[in-house]
Amino acid sequence: MSRNLLLISTSTTHGTGYLEHAEQEIRALLEGKKSVLFIPYARPGGISHKDYTSKAREAFEKWGISVSGLHEYDDAPKAVKEAEAVFIGGGNTFVLLRQLYQNKVVEPLRERVRQGMPYMGTSAGTNVAGKTIGTTNDMPIVHVKTFDALQLVPFNINPHFQDPDPGSTHMGETRDTRIAEFHHHNQQPVIGLREGSMLRVQGDKMKLLGPHTARVFLQTDKPMEFKPSDDLNFLLDVY
Ligand code: ASP
Repeated sequence: MSRNLLLISTSTTHGTGYLEHAEQEIRALLEGKKSVLFIPYARPGGISHKDYTSKAREAFEKWGISVSGLHEYDDAPKAVKEAEAVFIGGGNTFVLLRQLYQNKVVEPLRERVRQGMPYMGTSAGTNVAGKTIGTTNDMPIVHVKTFDALQLVPFNINPHFQDPDPGSTHMGETRDTRIAEFHHHNQQPVIGLREGSMLRVQGDKMKLLGPHTARVFLQTDKPMEFKPSDDLNFLLDVY
């Protein structure tokens, strides 16, 4: 399989501009490409597809890469089939997944990724690269017929992963608790990606990039921390 993916936890880290923290990795992913098809469906804060695409365009144009928004095409599946590379931006994961199915681009995206087309996602765009969207942090503000995502990788992701604040008096569930609950009903591993972290997948190899460790949750084990230099390839084996 010639997968070529960059799955980024967040588009913006504290103190840096949009996509800035991942510039080097994005440029490496898109080496030799002149254009990116942006999928603005997740609409963060409810912004329009047009405004969201303008934001992405501004970032990529600085790097000499042109951006078109998928909403600009009458035939969305065809636009995906002809894209040089795809970027799915963050926002609400349920809104995003619903729109991917409604516009019939789920299969074309899978197919193009199998053929080696570069794919990058931030946050909700990273969630939908996983097996299901069952470990998003988002509220289900629209109905989706299925939680099954693009399944470009055989595990789930929890982006913006947060460790509990030891001094906090907050009584709501921690991420660890919520993911343990998930594992009472689902088998697939979950990777908690802290802000600034990314997964780079090339074929059957996967690396953690960025300054932090990632927290890996297996159904049958205690949560484990993995460093960027650790071997994560086992998570690409289908469970
Ligand atoms: N709402 C997040 C995003 O920025 C996704 C998530 O937290 O699960 O796309």
